[in-house]
Amino acid sequence: MDIRVRFAPSPTGHVHIGNIRTAIFNWLFARHGGGKFLLRVEDTDKERSTQAAIDTLLECMGWLGLDYDEEIFYQGRNAAAHVGAAEKMLSNGQAYRPKVAGPEPAPVIFRIPWDTDNSSSVRIAGDAEIQIDPAMPVKIGRTGIQFSQLNEKGKSTERSASLAGYHQLKIFDASGVLVFEIEKEIGNILNNDAVTELANCAKFAFQRREVVFKDIIKGELAKPLDTMKDLVIVRGDGTPVFHLANVCDDIGQKITHIIRGDDHVENTYRHIFLFAALGFPIPQYGHLPMIVNQAGKPYSKRDGDAYVGDFRSKGYLPEALFNYLSLLGWSPGDDREKMSRGELVEAFTLERVKSSSAQFDINKLGNMNGQYMAEMDPAVFTEKTWQIAGSQGWTAGIDLTYFAKIAKLMQSRMKLFPQVSTWKYFFFDEFEKDEKASAKLLADRKSVDAIKYVLENLSSGPESEFSLDSIQKSIREAESLNGIQEGKLNQPLRIALTGQTTGAGIYETAEMLGREKTLKRLKTFIS
Ligand code: GLU
Repeated sequence: MDIRVRFAPSPTGHVHIGNIRTAIFNWLFARHGGGKFLLRVEDTDKERSTQAAIDTLLECMGWLGLDYDEEIFYQGRNAAAHVGAAEKMLSNGQAYRPKVAGPEPAPVIFRIPWDTDNSSSVRIAGDAEIQIDPAMPVKIGRTGIQFSQLNEKGKSTERSASLAGYHQLKIFDASGVLVFEIEKEIGNILNNDAVTELANCAKFAFQRREVVFKDIIKGELAKPLDTMKDLVIVRGDGTPVFHLANVCDDIGQKITHIIRGDDHVENTYRHIFLFAALGFPIPQYGHLPMIVNQAGKPYSKRDGDAYVGDFRSKGYLPEALFNYLSLLGWSPGDDREKMSRGELVEAFTLERVKSSSAQFDINKLGNMNGQYMAEMDPAVFTEKTWQIAGSQGWTAGIDLTYFAKIAKLMQSRMKLFPQVSTWKYFFFDEFEKDEKASAKLLADRKSVDAIKYVLENLSSGPESEFSLDSIQKSIREAESLNGIQEGKLNQPLRIALTGQTTGAGIYETAEMLGREKTLKRLKTFIS
């Protein structure tokens, strides 16, 4: 089979990471299988769909390298075909227009078909019985059934449903007398507008049927038909509803696999009937579990950056975001995490998509971004960090050659470009200090004495001898003279020199600062 998948976003301005992950999974699936990845803009909601929103969407996709095949399909331009399909269903009895009060035209409603005996999407699930509230009459007509159901505690809930879920329905009154049998009436009911009203009903007994499909990711999914209603497919104003447009376009675009968020599972139960009614095979479905926050709830803007544009403007690399999102709910089956696009394409299968929700972890994304930053061409990295430092407003008077050296030292230690602001201590004597760490260090006599020794030792040596080796040697001596375990003076020195608790190796940092700055800072620290 030639794979054809689509990404079908509704352009509403922002592109949520959950949506773009859906696009990524579709893209990977298509590229892996040598199929087509199509873009369908579901712009039926005229109020919310704007050209600006479409531009944002295309920009995000371009930035992430999600190239699509064929022309973009704009759903809004296909309304005539959608309405045509509805009219066809009207004319052959698969849909109806209910009687409405007032001058407004009636919507078109798709009827969940009564006869599902030969449908591979519907199966018999057993016999069911429910208690009915006798206070409310039961109404049965071609548009469905309405009643009030009683639960065990006697609470009454109004319900309405399609007739399709009530095969072999027998209705009994409070004294157990059979008052209605659907099988005897169904021909009549479906062929005219009359509504049968039954008072004092107490019990339904019926054969439960359910609509079922095999989801590539979630396995078999089923929903009892007696909980489903017929659905509006064209509004009274003549505009097609999402369900109809979505299915018609999947048919039109010859989509073989529908890979989308699992917030659409409930829609799929309905869409299955629409495909069948329109005479087309049902595509294969794969519903992707939600991306969730730390509390397991759907990840939203409230939890932090949630839109692709947020990550882009914060300086995340598209390859890193792409890689990270690929692993959100999917894994290659081994312990690989950092994977090139080619490796992802090669390894991607829907079967390996996890059926449980995927937790978004900004730290993991940061680590992934750091790995991609470390691999950047140093010249490009320098240019980009220089540009960001410039936009932070602190590059005036700084020597670019020296900046490039710092960039080289720091490249493997970054997670995000804006962190370039933490390099300021290389360039300025006035820099931000971790006050808590500094205070703690100052209270530590041994370390202060050892730092004093380092200062004296390095000051007495000739300028030409200021090197990685001499720095290291001097630190080791200071440690041993002050009874400090080897290596334990590195961190205090870092705090004294940079005000920070993290950074590059301390010898390299001191070397990069140079003799003059290093001595000056140690002096300042001690005084
Ligand atoms: N336009 C729908 C949405 O953005 C997508 C529907 C689909 O993928 O089938 O949720």
